[in-house]
Amino acid sequence: MSDIVKPSGEDMAIVFFGELSTKGKNIFDFIRLLGKNIKDKLSDYPQLKYEVHKDHIYIRLNGVDYSVVAKALAKVPGIQAYARVKNVAKDLEAIKDEAVALARSSSAQSFKVITRRVDKTFPHHSDEICRWVGGAVLQACPDKHVDVHHPELELHIYIRPEGAYVYGPKTLGLGGYPLGIAGKALQLLSGGIDSPVAAYLMMKRGCRLECIHFAAPPYTSEKVIGKIADLLEKLADYQPAIKLYVIPFTKLQEAIYDAAGTSYAITIMRRMMLRIAEKIAHAHNDLVISTGESIGQVASQTLKSMICIDRAIHTTVIRPLAIFDKTQIIDIAQKIDTFDISIRPYEDCCTIFEVKDPVTAPRIERAEEIEASFDYKTLVDQCVRDARIVWVRRGEKLPADFASNLTNNNEV
Ligand code: ATP
Ligand code: MG
Repeated sequence: MSDIVKPSGEDMAIVFFGELSTKGKNIFDFIRLLGKNIKDKLSDYPQLKYEVHKDHIYIRLNGVDYSVVAKALAKVPGIQAYARVKNVAKDLEAIKDEAVALARSSSAQSFKVITRRVDKTFPHHSDEICRWVGGAVLQACPDKHVDVHHPELELHIYIRPEGAYVYGPKTLGLGGYPLGIAGKALQLLSGGIDSPVAAYLMMKRGCRLECIHFAAPPYTSEKVIGKIADLLEKLADYQPAIKLYVIPFTKLQEAIYDAAGTSYAITIMRRMMLRIAEKIAHAHNDLVISTGESIGQVASQTLKSMICIDRAIHTTVIRPLAIFDKTQIIDIAQKIDTFDISIRPYEDCCTIFEVKDPVTAPRIERAEEIEASFDYKTLVDQCVRDARIVWVRRGEKLPADFASNLTNNNEV
């Protein structure tokens, strides 16, 4: 816990944690990490001062506009809600004045006063404070009435040992858990609609991500990498620095199509993608692999396909979108502003070889038989060795030539 805020009527923000409250003795790790993530996100504003408590964090604004802070808090995983707060003297008059000012600034017709008195030495009980403040608001705002069940405006009064706090409506945050609390995961990121949404949901759930993209030049154009960079820039709102591995996949992909024929090509390609991802994940301490697959969306995403694909590796594969309809996925893509980037035309390495008869119930034995017919291990190892690595950071553009001449035998 940091230094105590002196009552001064100053502007602050309050951050509530939500789900974290259920985490027993681990809660302090959660709160520390959330506090750190918030500070990182607002690192451009060193004048902000933080006060971390066990069920909320205060941010003293020190002249920074609340809207700037609120905009940042809206994209920090692990925050249930936040609000603008006035820190006032522990004095009934001061509390009342602040509550009345807040009510006056609101167009709400109905209101309710909610008081929490943590400091039991404060000479007035919660009910008394509610009645006193409610009466003052009614007198000052004759257009408003009290509605204790469905108020349009909640006026919160929080009496703590170090001061009193008055705040109005809370804004809902992302929910979920602080980024990093769940460990690190490797996200398969294509240029499509689904995988950036899966990435966002993983981050929201507390997983720090690394991303991997398979590129197959000249079949896929360099523009795809531009799309990936733009998508990652959006995702960097939730995780300020994201490591991307770009895998030159051409040679392996050509070998797959030669060996597999069309019906098993996608199945084998997915198994190879997972093999490469698993090697990268092991080398870089990613605990699980995540994809944007959704049950039944295409032939390679039937349950039987997923089983056959997963059997290629031993690492756990998480599919955050498994049970989502496309419309739900699109809603999230629009909310996180990746949709317009994702729908730009592009050639994914899954679409370049036309497959008219993809198998929907692939047999593992058949997949293994095809794989035994060519030296995929050498090609997989070559892909891993030739991965190009780049960090995408919030507010920074990737170098334009980052993905030029992407072939096997690259320098890493
Ligand atoms: P998306 O919208 O994410 O591209 P999709 O509906 O087009 O998904 P597929 O192309 O079948 O589905 O891909 C399924 C998943 O496989 C993707 O969500 C992604 O996680 C992974 N994937 C597909 N292509 C690539 C690629 N070129 N690089 C990295 N991952 C990929
Ligand atoms: Mg795709």
